[in-house]
Formats: sequence, structure tokens, C-alpha cells
Amino acid sequence: MKNFYVNILGCQQNEHDGVRIKYLLEKLGMVETDRKSADLIVIVACSVRQTAVDRVFGVIRNFKDKKILVAGCVLDSDKTKFEKRGVKFWDINKPETLKRLLKIRSKQSIAALMRQGERFSSSVPIMFGCNNFCTYCATAFTRGRERSRKFEEIVKDVEKLVCAGYKEILLLGQTINSYKDNETGQRLDDLFKRLNEIDGDFVISFTSNHPKDMTDKIIRAVSDLPKIKKEIHLPLQSGSDTILKAMNRPYSVKQYLEVIKKIKNANNNIAITTDVIVGFPGESEQDFQRTVKVFQSVGYRTAYINKYSPRPGTAAFKLGDPIPWEEKQRRWRILNDIVRNSTQRSRQ
Ligand code: SF4
Repeated sequence: MKNFYVNILGCQQNEHDGVRIKYLLEKLGMVETDRKSADLIVIVACSVRQTAVDRVFGVIRNFKDKKILVAGCVLDSDKTKFEKRGVKFWDINKPETLKRLLKIRSKQSIAALMRQGERFSSSVPIMFGCNNFCTYCATAFTRGRERSRKFEEIVKDVEKLVCAGYKEILLLGQTINSYKDNETGQRLDDLFKRLNEIDGDFVISFTSNHPKDMTDKIIRAVSDLPKIKKEIHLPLQSGSDTILKAMNRPYSVKQYLEVIKKIKNANNNIAITTDVIVGFPGESEQDFQRTVKVFQSVGYRTAYINKYSPRPGTAAFKLGDPIPWEEKQRRWRILNDIVRNSTQRSRQ
């Protein structure tokens, strides 16, 4: 195999993995090319939304003549479906298995090459997995339970990136605000303080947070430390308590807005961004209007507005998909307009 193409779907964690995979394949002597000319396609898959999984099946259908590997977030049920189509799953937590999958004879350590590839990404994963079981999401099944990296290892990774000249370094974790070094007990705000002491001209950004795990100490650190970007991503997902409950999001809208108030009181220059899902099963017009109200009151800098699509293997799958696509599109437009108008106003 000479040419490869890496198709990255989904979150920033996948972007980070994609950069490391590209570096690895180049070190193994392959050349990056476009999808049509590639002998090998590696798909870094996302199983949060069904549309992303459908795209994986689309690639498999359209490029039957190529060797395709799937990595990333994949449910066991999808792995079986991929295998039936002759497509293998590569678990990048067990990097050496790539040798067997691609029949590579190289003596080089795949794990070591993947580590070297970290240098080409300006993001640093600080924890993996998730302990929450939001009913629309499969991450807790595909990436396992929360595991935080060692504090000092993270500091070293960031120092290397600063030395290499990166100006913005993104810390990654599915619920990053629950970060904890289990040996030392250090938390995210301790990490911010330590990273802020590194010499150099750079900023640290971080994503994604869970509203239930946001602490006053983290808010204070973002507000006060000059090298921490003044931006907090706080996924709302819905402005209706009924829908939050159905999503297994353990906070109320009131509690969410209290966190927003603390952020604004700490520092009005902190931009707030969010994720929201429109058209979750059972979301009535009244529920949706509650989300509209939150959007109007918070004034998000940006929002990732997702139209719900049922995902096999998730708890919400059994609820079906009763809200028509056109209605989801309408709700999407309304929220999108609110964010656009509030961004325009803040620029004036
Ligand atoms: S917090 Fe919820 S949405 Fe986020 S990764 Fe965990 S289960 Fe998925």
C-alpha cells in the first residue's frame, strides 16, 4: 500500500487521533492523497449520531476496491456490521494491532510513532472516556469510563508544544471539568495554574465541559489567569427540564443558568459557547420555546446546533424519531438566527 487517506468524522478528540494516524502512516512510508487515489482509507468514526455512522457505510459502499480500516468511536454492533463487509476495526488504544491488520513487517513501534505524532497536533488529550450515560450518546460505551492522564505528563506535553511555537493549545476531554490526577488529586483548576506558569506567548483553550461538574475554582481560574482563553463551552443540550431528564442530563435549567451567572459575574469577557439538540423525541413546541428562552438570555458566542438522529445502541433509540426533519430544520433555524443576531450585536 502506497497512498492513504484519513477521513475524520466527529469531535476534536477524533481530529487529534486523525493527526497522529496521518503522521504514523507517513512514517511507515505511505503518502497522503485524496480519497479516490488512496489504496488505504482510514475512517476515524463517530458514533454519537446516526448520520456519522451512515457516512462510514457510504464510504465502505463507494470504495469497495480499497482497503478500509475504521478507528475511533465504534459500537460493538457496528464493528460486527463493518466486519461483515470486510472492513476491520483498529483499536488505537492497542496500536501494535495495526501490523496484523495491514500485514506490516516493519520493526518500528507503532505506539512510539503515534506518540511522536502528538507533536503535529496542537491539542493535548488530558482525559479519556466518560462516566455519564446521556441517552442519545454512545461515548461511554465506545471510549469506556473516565481516565485522567497524569498531571506532570500533561504539563510536559504542553511545554513541548509551546517550545515548538504553537500559540493556542487545546486541552481535550469528553467532560474535561471532571479531570483529576488520581495519584495527586490535582484538578483542572490546578492544571490551569501550572500551565499559566509556562514561559511563552500562548493561550490554553479547553473542551468539553459538563454543567454538573463546573466548579467555582475552574471559573475563577479561567477568569483570572492570563494564559487561559476567556471562553467556556457549556453544553446545554435542551432548555427544558423534561427533555434534560429524558436525555439523562442530571441538572435543571435553573442550575445551568446559575453556572452561567457565576461565569458572567466572574468576568463578563468570558465568551460562552454551547451544544444543543433540537427534535429530541418528545420535545414539544413548549419544550423548544424553553430552549429559545435560554438562548435569548445567555447570548452564546457560538452554538453547535444538532438535529436529533436516533443512534442504535443508545438508550434513546427505543424512543424512535417522531419529530419530522422539516420541524427539526425549523427549530435549528430559529436557534441559529438567535446566535447570529447576538454575535452581530456583540461586534457592533
Ligand atoms: S457527557 Fe454525555 S454527551 Fe458527553 S460524552 Fe458523556 S455521554 Fe456523551
